[in-house]
Amino acid sequence: MKVESIKGVGPKLATNLNKIGIFEVEDLLHYYPYRYNFINVINLGESDESIYVKAIIADYPRVFYIKKNFNRLTFKAMINNQEVNVTIFNRAFLKNNLTMNKEIILYGKYNSLKNTFTASDILFNYQNNTIEPVYHLAGELKQNTLIKLINEVLPHVRVVDNIPEYLNDKYEFISKDNAIKFIHSPNSIEEIKKAKLKLIYEELFMFMFKVNYLKKENTKALGIKRDFDETFLSNFINNLPFHLTHDQLVTINEIVDDLKSEIRMNRLVLGDVGSGKTIVAILAMYVNFLSGYQSAFMAPTEILANQHYINLIDIFKNDNINIELLTGKTSLKEKKRIYEELENGKIDILVGTHAMITDKVIYHNLGLVITDEQHRFGVNARDALQNKGISPDVLYLSATPIPRTYALTIYGDLSLSLIKTKPLGRKDIITKVIKENEIKDLLYKMLDELKKGHQIYVVSPLIETNEDLDLKSVLELKEKLSLAFKNIKIEILHGKLTNKEKDEIMDNFKKGEIKILISTTVIEVGIDVKNATMMVIYNAERFGLATLHQLRGRVGRNSVDSYCYLVSNHDKERLHVLEESNDGFYISEKDFELRGSGDLFGVRQSGDMVFKLADLKRDYKILVQATKDSEEFLNSNYYTNYETYNNIINDIKFIN
Ligand code: ADP
Ligand code: MG
Repeated sequence: MKVESIKGVGPKLATNLNKIGIFEVEDLLHYYPYRYNFINVINLGESDESIYVKAIIADYPRVFYIKKNFNRLTFKAMINNQEVNVTIFNRAFLKNNLTMNKEIILYGKYNSLKNTFTASDILFNYQNNTIEPVYHLAGELKQNTLIKLINEVLPHVRVVDNIPEYLNDKYEFISKDNAIKFIHSPNSIEEIKKAKLKLIYEELFMFMFKVNYLKKENTKALGIKRDFDETFLSNFINNLPFHLTHDQLVTINEIVDDLKSEIRMNRLVLGDVGSGKTIVAILAMYVNFLSGYQSAFMAPTEILANQHYINLIDIFKNDNINIELLTGKTSLKEKKRIYEELENGKIDILVGTHAMITDKVIYHNLGLVITDEQHRFGVNARDALQNKGISPDVLYLSATPIPRTYALTIYGDLSLSLIKTKPLGRKDIITKVIKENEIKDLLYKMLDELKKGHQIYVVSPLIETNEDLDLKSVLELKEKLSLAFKNIKIEILHGKLTNKEKDEIMDNFKKGEIKILISTTVIEVGIDVKNATMMVIYNAERFGLATLHQLRGRVGRNSVDSYCYLVSNHDKERLHVLEESNDGFYISEKDFELRGSGDLFGVRQSGDMVFKLADLKRDYKILVQATKDSEEFLNSNYYTNYETYNNIINDIKFIN
């Protein structure tokens, strides 16, 4: 039923509701509040957040005029029979309304150490003991309108409970109908807790059901049983210009075992930036070649695909391996030739971008699909590639570091290899958080690097938004740097450039012609320019720690010292984690502690990991339980009685 069918919802309101993703009446029920206003139900000190409390004024308020348009009103009040000092700013005009013994409602935060209540609002009329939901809004939609609408449909709620009865009984969960009622219109904190528990468990249970199902399918899926001469592989490894690290070797062994086994490989290689995942991928493709199959190596950007291509050509220069590059830039004529040669088996390795899966590419005998920084795709590459009869093995490479325990759960359907050791001789990137007013000193440091013939990345998050205004500020940044460094070539890499322009800039940076590259997070993935030894990141507070760590991984690819400067006036404590550590897994753990699971889990397909209420860190215990329960549920075959779970499986089969 469309929201328009609710009385009083006209086209205008409907449009506003659509803006927050509410189209059906059902959507309204599943649009949960993100917090609550507790009016006089919570005790002082019970919450660190802003709360509503009932207060009785206990002395005459005093006003201090601090400066023009800035004043402070203070008074004593009794809150829960406790005398508290109340402060509120810029409410001098209320002084005469605040008479002795009057009952008011204060909204604000209580500091138990100082016994002060800093209010941001005073209400004179209030309802007794209420909990008011607060929703995220957009457009002209009003809080009260949304509350009213939801309350109108709530009494008629009938939603499907996706938790099997025996689990509802076991955990004494409330019904789904009640959970929906309580989450929107709770009478007590207890009701909110019960509603959340039920709904969070349900989200995680359904997600893990999917993961467990995929895992079961994957272990059944037959792949290619390969046979090849392993001395070729060891010779190849011995002839590399470097020694592989311990974790690289372990990972390669795991991959080789997968490739030899007839079970289809479905492996995720998680490795910190610069840990050397590419060579692992290359070796996998080599084994695949030795056993007579084609490989597809997919990168998220053209720049990266190019880099991989050049790398492959170089590393296989002594082998008779036919490598081709296919990107959106490849000419039609070239594409036609490549398609033909792929289909008749002349090409051994195809490197490319999205074009590889969007175009109708047919392989002769595709045996291995590798996706680099897979989270950027959001498409299941294996299934998009058309192949003749065989089911290729799949390898995902990702630099998104995830604490192992979480990775094992949410990627339960994948085998996991972790590359933690860094290549020998790799130095830590010397990282410093600086304030904007310290930029002058920074310019001298940049000059030092330039004098040594090194190159510099400057990252500005502003370019990302693609708005003219922001572009202007980046151009100004270039201007400023150009003034500071005369005769130094500086370029900007931003989203408004054509692919050709981007590639040209990147090429010139690689060649060392461009000395300073101002860029967005485009460079976040995979770019390898060894001569770049410094990175300056503006507005660093806007990024997650994991992203910052990935960004700075672009430098430090050299045996000389490399530097990363995080320019920010905010959020210092969080950013200091990066000064302390160069270990991506540690950093992700910290990010997790500080920010919750939020944006860390980019590797799964995006839609999969968006939970409405669950936070993988906070709700980890529930996650573990839901994982176990959903696996048992799946294995019991009892799930076939549920439409929801049959649908989930059909959806997966449909994509596959
Ligand atoms: P990432 O894991 O971030 O994709 P890359 O595969 O791009 O890292 O590797 C970064 C750099 O380290 C490359 O220049 C690569 O040649 C080099 N490298 C990889 N493995 C080793 C090793 N064992 N010893 C020395 N250098 C290595
Ligand atoms: Mg890489």
